[in-house]
Amino acid sequence: MTATALDIDTLRTNGQRLWQSLMDLAAIGATPKGGVCRLALSELDRQGRDRVVQWAREAGLTVTVDRIGNVFMRRAGRNNALPPVMTGSHIDTQPTGGKFDGNYGVLAGLEVVRTLNDHGIQTEAPIEVAFWTNEEGSRFVPVMMGSGVFAGAFSLEHAYAAKDAEGISVREALEAIGYLGDEVPGAHPIGSYFEVHIEQGPVLEDAGVTIGVVEGVLGIRWFDCTVTGMEAHAGPTPMGLRRDALQVATQLMQEVVASALRHGPHGRGTVGMVRVHPNSRNVIPGQVQFSIDLRNASDALVDQQVAEVFALAERLQAQTGLSIRIEPVSSYAAQPFDAGCIDAVRRAAQALGHSHMPAISGAGHDAIYAARLAPAGMVFIPCKDGISHNEIEDADPAHVTAGADVLLRVMLERAGLAR
Ligand SMILES: [Zn+2]
Repeated sequence: MTATALDIDTLRTNGQRLWQSLMDLAAIGATPKGGVCRLALSELDRQGRDRVVQWAREAGLTVTVDRIGNVFMRRAGRNNALPPVMTGSHIDTQPTGGKFDGNYGVLAGLEVVRTLNDHGIQTEAPIEVAFWTNEEGSRFVPVMMGSGVFAGAFSLEHAYAAKDAEGISVREALEAIGYLGDEVPGAHPIGSYFEVHIEQGPVLEDAGVTIGVVEGVLGIRWFDCTVTGMEAHAGPTPMGLRRDALQVATQLMQEVVASALRHGPHGRGTVGMVRVHPNSRNVIPGQVQFSIDLRNASDALVDQQVAEVFALAERLQAQTGLSIRIEPVSSYAAQPFDAGCIDAVRRAAQALGHSHMPAISGAGHDAIYAARLAPAGMVFIPCKDGISHNEIEDADPAHVTAGADVLLRVMLERAGLAR
């Protein structure tokens, strides 16, 4: 079967079918507030996986599962010695998750395949749609587990040993739902990788733009900070004789934000978790523990933020005599995407007549690990009010279709028409 250049230019996905699939999948684990709760490797995750796999088989795809439960759904090309052009995301959700996070990327990939089927288009290279195990990291830590094992970021044994709050391990959960596959993770070539996702932030909507051409993912540094002073009675202890841990901690918290502001436009600084001891109205706080989350577009910039926070900690410790301990929790390198893939996404949006702008991802995605193995890129679409990881997460059907059309075009360009 041949398709001419003109056919390709007019080729579009079926937005209604994609939307219907999103709604059908969201019915599995649907919450009363309109969201989805489908935790990784749960019985509901099994049901969601089974549904997507069934759709894939109906679309003529062959399905393989690896030992961490990543699922690859393959549409053969003319030359199957070529590595596949892959797209994918995840279908696990947060406990109070939405219908689009992850699910959109997987089902948009399936819609690309269905569209190629509709038009009898054969590609030169094979095409694969993947869903990766436990992207959310809500039931099992770490996040992006399946793609992380696949990319060799950590070992299969490390992932297997992770346990949920009830003491069930990842390995046990994989066996229980029937998704402990045979394939060795990573033993699966990728020619190039594209992932389409809701932005999960407010930038595109604020700019009134349909397509975010994602240039990379912010580097992340997490720390736990403990400031230790001395608790004492709030009345009898004069100001000059106090060792108030909270007053010192708040100066450092301000620096977390100030440093991010100094290193814009992509600098981020967040203190999201604070514990005050003993947390009593009339006791001077003796100890404060808080989280530090620093992000920026390059490792050099985020490390600059880290250095500034540490420098202030040292000064405060010297000035006040209070102990300040900052311990690293985790660190993710900034991940710039492949210049060729970024350009392909930009050109596709342009050719389709969609407004577009450069974007940067502040959240983690499976594409980060895929980018370690192959040229990779991402496509963002706006989500309502920039809200995600929330049951009210929503997206405009027109944007959902636009993102899938961009995905179709870049995948077709990469895979090539059968010669
Ligand atoms: Zn996601």
